[in-house]
Amino acid sequence: MSDTSDDDYSDDPLDADIHQSNSTNEEDEQQEGETFDTDLPTAHKYLGKLNTVSGYTIFDDGEVIELLAIHTKTLVFPGFTLPLVMNTQLEQSTMDSFLKKCNIFVLVCADEMGSRLYKYGVTMEVFESVSQNDTLYLKAKGRQRCKILPTKEIQHLGGRLQKVTVKILAEPAFTSPIACTQLLSLCSRRPHLFANYKDLLRSYKYRRYHLAQFPCASWVYDRNEVSFYVEHMLKQLVRFYLKENIPLDPVTLSYWFIQNFQLCHEERLHLMKLDSALERLKVELRLLERERLLCCILCKTEITRQSQVFAMSKDGVQSNYCNPGGHVYETVTVVKAKNFNLVGNPSKEFSWFPGYWWTIMQCRLCQGHIGWRFSSNHLQPRTFYGLAKSGLEIRILAKNQSNELD
Ligand SMILES: [Zn+2]
Repeated sequence: MSDTSDDDYSDDPLDADIHQSNSTNEEDEQQEGETFDTDLPTAHKYLGKLNTVSGYTIFDDGEVIELLAIHTKTLVFPGFTLPLVMNTQLEQSTMDSFLKKCNIFVLVCADEMGSRLYKYGVTMEVFESVSQNDTLYLKAKGRQRCKILPTKEIQHLGGRLQKVTVKILAEPAFTSPIACTQLLSLCSRRPHLFANYKDLLRSYKYRRYHLAQFPCASWVYDRNEVSFYVEHMLKQLVRFYLKENIPLDPVTLSYWFIQNFQLCHEERLHLMKLDSALERLKVELRLLERERLLCCILCKTEITRQSQVFAMSKDGVQSNYCNPGGHVYETVTVVKAKNFNLVGNPSKEFSWFPGYWWTIMQCRLCQGHIGWRFSSNHLQPRTFYGLAKSGLEIRILAKNQSNELD
């Protein structure tokens, strides 16, 4: 599969005057230009100056509450930010009156078939908002997973808004599969729960005594330790991401992975319904093993692949951004792309990456919208691509195909 080699990922020749290829300009780029501040995209400054809403609301596990729900094409997981623009009179006034009572809403999305509401969602807390010229600008942060109760009526309020009754889902505390058989008198001398798998291996002498009483081989119990999965996920993830950007906390890592790795909608929905970080990490480690291509959703042409993905934002490689029309785009940032044309002139208006010009990218074969090229004369990197997940389809390669790519 020589056509998927790194060298083939090039830029559009039409725009050669603005962009110089990485290979010829690499040294210059290292010497000049300031590095882009990756805190900026998550600040969503393009929304303008918003008023801060204070508070940090965490509901009790199992609590049942009636909340306003917003239906978008994207999913946001606990800890990540969603920007929203509401520019219809109906959505704006409904949202405004709800926010006066409570600054929490639920983010919901479509199920695997795209026809019905998926039964799991995430509570979102509004932390900044402002109303200007009949438009409501919001920023909200994901807090807790929740489940829509099927027995309760879903009330449609118009636009993307609904009123739903949800049950807050618990995030279980970590435990070890051998914890309940540990003698209390030995707890302080022989710790059995480790945040770091290397520490667990270091104290394996004691663990071996403990495991001797169980019927299965020791690796069965080792593979039910959260630290085992954190360790092995990190080993795989450093192939694609900078080590310092990968969270070590198991819960955060399990959500960070869903937000940042190139998963298809069905895979993300499946992970969303898993109750504990251990269950999620087990599935995620399996998902990590296959190389993935990002292809045009309409004609299936390859646009880029997982190994080209890089982080331009503190939140990671994949974040949600909003355009002036109120449409939320889930965008993944990549170093290189191919098979695209640039359309129209570069613009700085409403730029998601402050200081960068954006130009619309279309699929070279079918002219479908696949994202934006971002370029700057003074920031590092000079050029990158923000691909819209809604215009892309993930193609999972078979194992032998992945080897050919390497
Ligand atoms: Zn296409």
